[in-house]
Amino acid sequence: VTDTAAAAPPRNIVVVGASLAGARTAEALRLAGYDGGLTIVGAEAHWPPYDRPPLSKQLLTGQWETEQCRLRIQPDVADKLLLDVQATRLDPVAQQVWLSNGDVLGYDRLVIATGARPRTLRNTAGITGVHYLRTLEDCLSLRAAMSTSRSVAIVGAGFIGCEVASACRAAGLSVTLIDALPTPLAAVVGGDVGNVIAGVHSDHGVRVRCGVTVVALRGRDRVKGLVLSDGSYVAADLVVIGVGAIPNTEWLAGSGLPDADGVACGETSAVVGAPSVCAVGDVACAYHPRFDSSMRLEHWSGAVSQARIAAAHMLGQPPQPPPLPYFWSDQYDLHLQFVGLPAKHWRLLEGTLQANEFVVGYHTDGRLTGALCFNRPARLARLRRMIGGPVPADLNDTDTARSSVMTGTSADG
Ligand SMILES: Cc1cc2nc3c(=O)[nH]c(=O)nc-3n(C[C@H](O)[C@H](O)[C@H](O)COP(=O)(O)OP(=O)(O)OC[C@H]3O[C@@H](n4cnc5c(N)ncnc54)[C@H](O)[C@@H]3O)c2cc1C
Repeated sequence: VTDTAAAAPPRNIVVVGASLAGARTAEALRLAGYDGGLTIVGAEAHWPPYDRPPLSKQLLTGQWETEQCRLRIQPDVADKLLLDVQATRLDPVAQQVWLSNGDVLGYDRLVIATGARPRTLRNTAGITGVHYLRTLEDCLSLRAAMSTSRSVAIVGAGFIGCEVASACRAAGLSVTLIDALPTPLAAVVGGDVGNVIAGVHSDHGVRVRCGVTVVALRGRDRVKGLVLSDGSYVAADLVVIGVGAIPNTEWLAGSGLPDADGVACGETSAVVGAPSVCAVGDVACAYHPRFDSSMRLEHWSGAVSQARIAAAHMLGQPPQPPPLPYFWSDQYDLHLQFVGLPAKHWRLLEGTLQANEFVVGYHTDGRLTGALCFNRPARLARLRRMIGGPVPADLNDTDTARSSVMTGTSADG
């Protein structure tokens, strides 16, 4: 992909994707002084956009209503807002985007912020009682179904699955949480901490079924239950599937933009080989200098910081270093925060696993790559500063390795 206009200051920016990353990029451009043309194209009809984290938390439990999920976006960031319209094709050489309403938009800078959508399981389409959770409409439809259901099977014990389990227990449903890995969240927190999370769910009355997969759905038009790989049957009048997300890049087919898992971009968010195009948020597979690798993260705070980074890049302002990856999750009375990246080895840095209040550090080659705060939010700032440094024996004793420290290797590693 060639790019000759990248050096001239932008006058005509198009943002594709009108949710968190797209809206925040538009806002960051205006805050940084950009006063040229700015068009936002969004497949959804919502503006201001809504925030997704409450969809598996406060909105699903009914503590919040829809209006409380709206993002606060500076008014009038866009001079043209095209909602309920999809980008269908991109020609980065001609610098044009084709839209589902027949329009073709020219641009001198393009922001790709098309996010991700749930990975689906085969043969689940159109079956009443089977739900995925990504959009506001998904959440409202699931919430309504929860109010008339007695039992739910949740397929996938990642963050969304675990949070939905928590919301369903709060609603009084009988809950079975199913995952192919040995524990919930095993790929992120490892097997030992995953066991603690399994225990939290069991303590709240959830049947945790890990190490098994779904082999069949029972029920013709309406789901009745699931057959698992160990031959067992889970009866359920509601099934929620949370088995990951895939980036929305189909509209970029034929554009020549690098698409592996998401749109490959550098640390400035500029797309590899196309510096007048930036990719931000869940669709972006961005290089992170701290870890010397590219990663596609599905983290709220990552989308927000990439928006700022991309705006600075497009306006030719000094580059901003990407912050450490960070996400949180709320399940029951548990507040979980993860900064940095997981690794195969872990060490307990504070508290005890049994007490459900602890800090675990993840490390590779003696260096701390990431840390998990389990109901210990006050420790986060300090941990951020420690990432990349030597792995301490514990949070208060930063230079000696004690033989009594609790360590382990993640089951998935
Ligand atoms: C239920 C749920 C709970 C979450 N909870 C947390 C949490 O607790 N903590 C955390 O850190 N993160 C959480 N996340 C992740 C966080 O919400 C995402 O990282 C964030 O929404 C990413 O924003 P985005 O703008 O990149 O993508 P999205 O929010 O997916 O927005 C992309 C937008 O682009 C639109 N679009 C797609 N294709 C096109 C096209 N061709 N043309 C035009 N528009 C298009 C989509 O319709 C969508 O509106 C959660 C996500 C979900 C779904």
